[in-house]
Amino acid sequence: MSNLDRQAALSVCGGRGFVVAEPVRELLSPRRVQLGESTEVRRLLPNLGRRMVGAWAFVDHYGPDDIADEPGMQVPPHPHMGLQTVSWLHEGEVLHRDSTGSLATIRPRELGLMTSGRAISHSEESPRTHARFLHGAQLWVALPDAHRGVEPHFQHHTELPTVTAPGLNATVILGTLDGATSPGTAYTPITGADLTLARGAELGLPLDPDFEYAVLSMSGEVHVDGVPVLPGSMLYLGCGRTELPLRAESDAGLMLLGGEPFEEELIMWWNFVARSNEEIVQARSDWMQGSRFGEVKGYDGGPLAAPELPPGPLKKRGRVR
Ligand code: MN
Repeated sequence: MSNLDRQAALSVCGGRGFVVAEPVRELLSPRRVQLGESTEVRRLLPNLGRRMVGAWAFVDHYGPDDIADEPGMQVPPHPHMGLQTVSWLHEGEVLHRDSTGSLATIRPRELGLMTSGRAISHSEESPRTHARFLHGAQLWVALPDAHRGVEPHFQHHTELPTVTAPGLNATVILGTLDGATSPGTAYTPITGADLTLARGAELGLPLDPDFEYAVLSMSGEVHVDGVPVLPGSMLYLGCGRTELPLRAESDAGLMLLGGEPFEEELIMWWNFVARSNEEIVQARSDWMQGSRFGEVKGYDGGPLAAPELPPGPLKKRGRVR
């Protein structure tokens, strides 16, 4: 366990890890990262001091970008292992291709869920004819050790369950929220939900006290447990909550991410989630030699080259730094 040495105040929360068993309010600022030539994203996870929320291990928020006269997103074929990717849009489209032969156009509030298992490769691009604005999030979910070798597969769900309350329309993306469960395959106890709040909405969202949670703001003015969270920022909430107070000053769009604290230590490097330095070295080598990760057909351009590995061996890390 990575963080047992922190404080005597630590106690068990959920079945998978050790977290302070009381609610916290920790505002996470984004880091700006250039993706390819045309897209700048705001990276919320991993963040300084916090690497994961449940099994959610990676969160990029992008847009809204005006791409009317631009190619938009152009991410050439690249590999993944040990994780699932979630594509989630508020505006625009993303054309997904992968090495299992998938070809899908993901539209707003549809789930594009790619389970890499042991090895997959994919590309993501704005279709040639596309909407003016592109606004979305790209997320990774770490696979637990027992399932990280599953066969790679892709799921596209255009119909997802919803949870409604006055002023709230929530779409369940992954896992369960308030008894509604996404059809997307989850490998750990997890929640991913899209929350659309109407101006003036004030409510308590039911939560699982065994889960830790964070809320990403994508648009609008909202107070999460009394804390104003600006678009592009994320508020980490800890665990031990049965209800989350939300108040919308304007129409607002949020993502709720949560899950049982992920107790396994991971090595995340480039597009890989692994358990040892040797696995990473092997995966990089396999990708560069064109083996194991399959082939993405139909993308207009070559695959991405892997970056150089750092000089020393990569070390496992826990859910907090
Ligand atoms: Mn990817």
